[in-house]
Amino acid sequence: MNIERRDLRPDDVQFNILYCGICHSDLHQVKNDFGASRYPMVPGHEIVGRVTAVGSAVTSFKVGDLAAVGCIVDSCGTCPACHRDLEMFCEGVEGSTLSYNSQDRVLGGITYGGFSQTYVCKEKYTLRVPENLDLAAAAPLLCAGITVYSPLKHWGAGAGKVVGIVGIGGLGHVAIRIAKAMGAHVVVFTTSPSKVEDAKRLGAHEAVLSTDPEQMKKFSSKIDILLDTVSASHDVNSYLNLLAIDGNLVLVGLPAKPLEIGAFNVVKGRRSFSGSNIGGIAETQEMLDFCTEHGIVADIELIRADQINEAFERLEKNDVRYRFVVDMSTLS
Ligand code: NAP
Ligand code: ZN
Repeated sequence: MNIERRDLRPDDVQFNILYCGICHSDLHQVKNDFGASRYPMVPGHEIVGRVTAVGSAVTSFKVGDLAAVGCIVDSCGTCPACHRDLEMFCEGVEGSTLSYNSQDRVLGGITYGGFSQTYVCKEKYTLRVPENLDLAAAAPLLCAGITVYSPLKHWGAGAGKVVGIVGIGGLGHVAIRIAKAMGAHVVVFTTSPSKVEDAKRLGAHEAVLSTDPEQMKKFSSKIDILLDTVSASHDVNSYLNLLAIDGNLVLVGLPAKPLEIGAFNVVKGRRSFSGSNIGGIAETQEMLDFCTEHGIVADIELIRADQINEAFERLEKNDVRYRFVVDMSTLS
C-alpha cells in the first residue's frame, strides 16, 4: 500500500530506510495478541536509514548521515517519567507515541512503522549509529538491544554476578553478548538442543537444556539475574527456583496470557519477579555506543521484502538464527 509521510517540520529528520529488523512484537501485533492492533498496519521498529532531509531547526543530523529509530518516536516531554529519560513510561495523557500502531500526535491517525521506504521522526527521538557497524546486523539493537541492555544495567549485571538468559531468540542472543560484555557470568536456558551447542559461540559461559530437569537442578538457587525473553506461555516457577537469595527474574517476553506464580517460589530466598519495557532514548543511544565499543551486533538472516510472509511464519515456528532483517532497498 502507499502511505504518506508528513512534510518536514523544523525539528524533523527524514530518512530513507536501509534495514528493518523483524521483532517477535511485530508478530504479536500482526496477530493482535495484545488486543490493540489497528489495521491496515505497517509494523517494523528496528529501523536504520540514511538522512535525506532535515528541518530548519535540526542541529545534530545532516543529509547523508545515518539515522536510526526504535520503538519510541514521541512523548509529552514534560511529565516526571520523561524528565527521568523514561519516555517509554510517559505519563502524559497520550502516553508515548510508538513507531507504529500508535496514535500519531502530529498528523492524527495511526503511526506507520519501518517496513516502508522512508521515515520522518523528531530529531530528539532519532538515534545515531556509526558508519563502521554492520548496519543490517545493527538494526535489531534498536529494540532487541535496548530491551535487554536496560534491565541488565538497571539490576546490576556485571563482574561477580551470574546472569541467566531464558529463551535464545532475537532478544536472548543479543542479551548473551551484552551481559558478557558487562562482565557477568552468563548461563543460557534454552528449549532448543541446537542452541545449547551454539551458546558458547554466542559467548555464553554455560548452557542448559531447560527441558532436562537434571540439568536445571544443577543451577538451583545459583542465578542472580534471570532475564526471561520467552514469547509464549511457559512455567516461570521452574526458573524462579533457579534464583539465589535476593535474585530477580525480569520478564521482558510478552506471552499473551497471564503467568501463574507459586507463592513459595518467591517468598523462599526473598526473590523478586519483575519486568522491563524497552528503554528511554538517552539509554538507547548509550546502548548503541556500548555495543559499538564492544563490537556487538545481532546474528541475522537478511531477507528481501517479498520474503516477509515466510519470515513471519518461520519466526512463529522458532526457526530463525537469530533475527530476520529486511533489506528495505528491495521494496522499491
Ligand atoms: P523470538 O526471536 O521469537 O525468541 C523467543 C524465544 O523464546 C525463542 O527463540 C525460544 O527460545 C523461546 N520460546 C518460544 N516459544 C517458546 C515456548 N512455547 N516455550 C518455551 N520457550 C519458547 O522473539 P524475540 O523477538 O526475542 O522477542 C521475545 C519476546 O519479547 C516476545 O514476546 C516479544 O514481544 C517481547 N519483547 C518485549 C519487549 C519489551 O520491551 N518488554 C521488547 C521487545 C520484544 P529457545 O529456542 O532458546 O527456547
Ligand atoms: Zn521489538
